[in-house]
Amino acid sequence: MVETLNITINKNPNSKLDQVDFDNIQFGKIYTDHLFVAEFKNGEWDNFQINPYDDLRISPASPSIHYGISIFEGLKAYKNDKGEVLVFRPDKNLERMNISAERMCMPLIPEQLYYEALDTLLGIDSDWVPSQVGSSLYVRPFLFSDDDFIGIRPSQDFRFMIITCPVGAYYSKPVKVNIEDHFVRAIEGGSGFCKTGCNYGPAIYPAKLAQEKGYDQLIWTDGKDHKYIEESGTMNIMFIMDGKLVTPALGDTILNGITRDSVLTLARDWGVEVEERKIEVDEVVTAAKEGRIQEAFGAGTAATIAQIELIGHNGTDYKLPAVEDREFSHKVLKELDDIKYGRIEDKFGWIHKV
Ligand SMILES: *Cc1c(COP(=O)(O)O)cnc(C)c1O
Repeated sequence: MVETLNITINKNPNSKLDQVDFDNIQFGKIYTDHLFVAEFKNGEWDNFQINPYDDLRISPASPSIHYGISIFEGLKAYKNDKGEVLVFRPDKNLERMNISAERMCMPLIPEQLYYEALDTLLGIDSDWVPSQVGSSLYVRPFLFSDDDFIGIRPSQDFRFMIITCPVGAYYSKPVKVNIEDHFVRAIEGGSGFCKTGCNYGPAIYPAKLAQEKGYDQLIWTDGKDHKYIEESGTMNIMFIMDGKLVTPALGDTILNGITRDSVLTLARDWGVEVEERKIEVDEVVTAAKEGRIQEAFGAGTAATIAQIELIGHNGTDYKLPAVEDREFSHKVLKELDDIKYGRIEDKFGWIHKV
């Protein structure tokens, strides 16, 4: 590839920045002034642009609309106390995006394209990265089919885009989760390990049913026998059981979360015993009954750690230990925040400075 991409920059003449109340941000409602877009045509990437945030023009026949030929990522940028913009582990998002791309017959995103797009966009909208404690800028890269052909086949034309939105301090209220024994998120041989639109639409209905029963979300189990724990909503799930950190092993039905990897890395570094393995529903229910679960939480970019206060199974609710008493998850959340905001040494090389 060439030394630098030729990104055309069309500045937004009508910045919305001064209309935003950064102390009261509603997630996903307000987008920054600019977006990045690139086109894949005739087998190559071209037409790199930063444009004012605006609606898209797209063929009504696009397979991204009809067949879910679309993939996405989610990561965050933070401001340190020098006002510099720090991105947390963007290399892992690129790696995962390209794994999703391959599964969906889409072109890979070259490293150079990804980083130049990210750095240029975050540079232009750097004033949008909040400096309030606990706030950040959510970054959403996505890739979708841009064909104007309604047939089912590998697409030829694509668009890669990045949009960003500020997010406020996210206090995640402890959640009540129900173990799902009917609906399925992913199955072996399927696409559960990809962040593709196809996996998320069908998961909304079972989550809605769980909410109608009084739970906040559900715990997905394996698609064959509903015997093993897989994930919690759109987060990876972790337990401190008998003093050990236990989480389902990765496979093609579980999303390889970057928060998950970061938590496991810190735990191992601290000498906490870690087990990545199959976890039976029965094991969790029995351990909950016997008071052998010290902590349970979801791990993901949105909340980092979402405490689970109660697990429902077959109509019985098992209350877990008080959230205030949970040592590991509080410590890991604080350590991750300190790394993300550049308050402590980045000893694992997780920070990318814009
Ligand atoms: C994105 C996602 C996660 C969490 O991944 P992070 O990289 O930690 O944000 C977990 N499970 C599912 C299904 C997801 O879509």
